[in-house]
Amino acid sequence: MYKAIVIEKDDAGYRAELRQQDDSALPEGDVTVRVSHSTLNYKDGLAITGKGPVVRRFPMVPGIDLVGTVEHSESADYKVGDAVVHTGWGVGEVHPGGLAEKARLKGEWLVPLPAAFTPTQAMAIGTAGFTAMLCVMALERHGVTPDQGEVLVTGAAGGVGSVAVSVLSKLGYTVVAVSGRPEETDFLKELGASEVLDRAAFSQPAKPIAKERWAGAIDVVGSHTLANVCSQMKYRGVVAACGLAGGMDFPATVAPFILRGVTLAGVDSVMCPRDERIAAWNRLARDLDASKLEMISREIGLSEAIAVAGQLLEGKVRGRVIVDINR
Ligand code: NDP
Repeated sequence: MYKAIVIEKDDAGYRAELRQQDDSALPEGDVTVRVSHSTLNYKDGLAITGKGPVVRRFPMVPGIDLVGTVEHSESADYKVGDAVVHTGWGVGEVHPGGLAEKARLKGEWLVPLPAAFTPTQAMAIGTAGFTAMLCVMALERHGVTPDQGEVLVTGAAGGVGSVAVSVLSKLGYTVVAVSGRPEETDFLKELGASEVLDRAAFSQPAKPIAKERWAGAIDVVGSHTLANVCSQMKYRGVVAACGLAGGMDFPATVAPFILRGVTLAGVDSVMCPRDERIAAWNRLARDLDASKLEMISREIGLSEAIAVAGQLLEGKVRGRVIVDINR
């Protein structure tokens, strides 16, 4: 038997509960992991509350991230006792996830826990931090360098945003943060933001073209925010777009792309190929100040995860939430 949060959807409605499951509930997979920690990402919030169509099979164990120790392995790449990290691959959506004492996964989805991080630090990063790094790598791939000018990060006090601000500032970029929470201004400045702008300035319909300001941008919000960001990009600026916290629509014009040569780079962490995953974790080990992880994250027990998932969607959670599976 093992403890798990389980989401059900039936005639009685959509609900998540913490309960004991028999090992026979574990899915197919060649590696069984004893999970020590998981996290709560925006997507987990949508899954647990049912506010977004994230879960596509029921019953489902949510939790798109996990870290733990291999308990059983039929994979040539992992042996019993190895420390591993998992993010994405539809886990917590179509394959039971990390908010449980045990998970069974495909070995090819796993990444060895980087030596630079403890299990808790790896989960302080999790999908959100990993995605932030993929966004930074997308800006670099398209030629953005610190000398070109300011880089904007939206949704900055959230999980992706707070790691993005930290990494970009350590890399020498001048980072401007956008947040709807003025009370997080000091926090964002401590992470490395040079200035914090009110998100209200980005929430109205965008002009096709606005005053040029940003050499690069990382957007987690979508909708009018992404449209405003694109219209404010400098000539040949680059926007990495990864989120929809403000909406899935994109009410923009082509003007920034055809008049200023702006690049819109889409970032997906879920199906990201394994070599790029390992590269991103190595970059996090090098370019993220691990001491910032404590500022960015807080730890809760598995029994608190359902309640905190609701707060996350209300935008009340700062940075990252680590879930200790054993409490
Ligand atoms: P969080 O909830 O931790 O952070 C989101 C932040 O967005 C909030 O803290 C808030 O920042 C801002 N925000 C929330 N609602 C609104 C709104 N209506 N308008 C403007 N800003 C808003 O989520 P994550 O950081 O984990 O994820 C952010 C987004 O990125 C989500 O949409 C998520 O689905 C997506 N994502 C995508 C991935 C991918 O692979 N493409 C992977 C990971 C995440 P503040 O309070 O500072 O204003």
